[in-house]
Amino acid sequence: MKERDPNVRFQSKYAMKHTSGGYQYAFYCAYCDFHYTSGWIRAGSAEEAYDLAEKEAKREFNGCHSCGKWVCGDHYNMGEMMCLKCAPLIMEMSI
Ligand SMILES: [Zn+2]
Ligand SMILES: [Zn+2]
Repeated sequence: MKERDPNVRFQSKYAMKHTSGGYQYAFYCAYCDFHYTSGWIRAGSAEEAYDLAEKEAKREFNGCHSCGKWVCGDHYNMGEMMCLKCAPLIMEMSI
């Protein structure tokens, strides 16, 4: 069994906007359009802003403890703490 790392690095798809007002990041589920958009962040650098935005966004996503991808609730297997690609849910009513 793999060790579960609470600090799995965020590997979500993201987009960044930068204006004079600061930086804004949008993070996306690895498998669908679900996303979280951070507020405008004033920071010295894009990296610094990213770290802050990531902290906010992490609350809205679930990290897969196998592949490290961040996914929405619909693409997460809570029991296994993995994404549905790594731990597919068995659909009992699939007929
Ligand atoms: Zn999703
Ligand atoms: Zn996974």
